[in-house]
Amino acid sequence: MNEFSIIETYFNFTPSGDGVVFGVGDDAACVEIPDGQQLLISSDTLVAGVHFLNEWDAYDIAWKGLMVNISDIAAMGAVPKWFTLALTLPDNNVQWLERFSQGLQAASKHYGLSLIGGDTTRGPLCFTITIHGLAPKGCAVRRSGAAPDDSIWLSNNIGAAALAVRLLYDPNIDRVKEDFDVLMEKLLHPEPRADFMHVLRNCASAAIDISDGLSADLFHICEASRVGACIDESQLPVHPLVFKYCPDAVERALCGGDDYELCFTVPPQKVPLLASLLESSALKARKIGVIESFPGLRLKKLDNSIQELPTKGYQHF
Ligand code: ADP
Ligand code: MG
Repeated sequence: MNEFSIIETYFNFTPSGDGVVFGVGDDAACVEIPDGQQLLISSDTLVAGVHFLNEWDAYDIAWKGLMVNISDIAAMGAVPKWFTLALTLPDNNVQWLERFSQGLQAASKHYGLSLIGGDTTRGPLCFTITIHGLAPKGCAVRRSGAAPDDSIWLSNNIGAAALAVRLLYDPNIDRVKEDFDVLMEKLLHPEPRADFMHVLRNCASAAIDISDGLSADLFHICEASRVGACIDESQLPVHPLVFKYCPDAVERALCGGDDYELCFTVPPQKVPLLASLLESSALKARKIGVIESFPGLRLKKLDNSIQELPTKGYQHF
C-alpha cells in the first residue's frame, strides 16, 4: 500500500460532526466557525515507547491519542469539533493500520468529532493530533484566572493510571489480575471530562487537565495566576487501588500523570452555583484545597502539619 491508498482506505472517514466544508483530499481543510464563537487549537504527540508500548492494540493507541487531545479542549470549557492526524509509521502493516483506524473512528464518533486532514510519513512510530474546538467568544477558561481564597476542585479520584504504568513496568509487584485489568482500563481508555463544560464556563476562574500529575498541573495554574495553593490531604480523592498497592499512596497520586481528570478553581461567590450545577447535571467534584497568595504548593497533612510539595511532573528533557 502506498501513502495515498493508506489515507484513502484508513483515514478518509465520513465526518462525525457538523461544520466541515471540506476535509481530507485537498491541500488544506475548511471548516465553518459559527458567529459569536472562537476557535481553540491544541496538539498532542504520542511516541512509541514513551506514551504507549509497541505491543498495545493499535485500536487502544488511537483511542487514547484522540482522548488526550479532547481532554485539553475540555479543560478550556470548549467543545471539540475537528482534528488532523500527522502519522509516522515504520512500515505499511495493514493489520496495525486497520486497528488504528477502527479505534480512531470509534473515538471520533463517540465525541462527534471529524477527522479533516493530516500527513502520513515513514519513520519511527509516533503521531500528532491537532484538535480544534469551539467556545462562545470570551468564554474559554484559562490557567491564569485563579485568585487567593478560590477553592480548588477535582472532577474525580486520581492515581489509577500512574499505578497501571508502575505495575506494567515492574513485574515483581504482586497483583490481583482483576485489579490490574481495572487499572489498565483507566490507562488505555481515559474518558476526558467534556461533561464539565457548563460547570467550567459558569463557575471556574481557572482550569487544567491532569496529564502530568496533580502537583505539576496545579502548579501550572499557580504560576499562570501568580498565586500558591494548599491541598488538604483529608479531602484528596485517591483511587482505592492506589491505597491497596502503594504505602505512599498520597505522594503517588499527587505525582502520577495520565488521569485526564480536571482540576479547577472556583471563587467563593460561585460555590453555591457550582453546587447547584453539579446536582442538576448529576456530576461529582471534590473540593481539595484552597488558593493562597503565597507562591508554591503545600499539602495540609492529616495531622494538620504543612508539607511543601514538589512541583515537577514528568519532563521529557
Ligand atoms: P500535501 O502533499 O499537499 O501535504 P498529502 O499528500 O500529504 O498532501 O495529503 C493528501 C490529503 O490527505 C490531504 O488532504 C491531507 O490532509 C490528507 N491526509 C494525509 N495524511 C492523513 C492522515 N493520516 N489522516 C487524515 N488525512 C490525511
Ligand atoms: Mg499540498
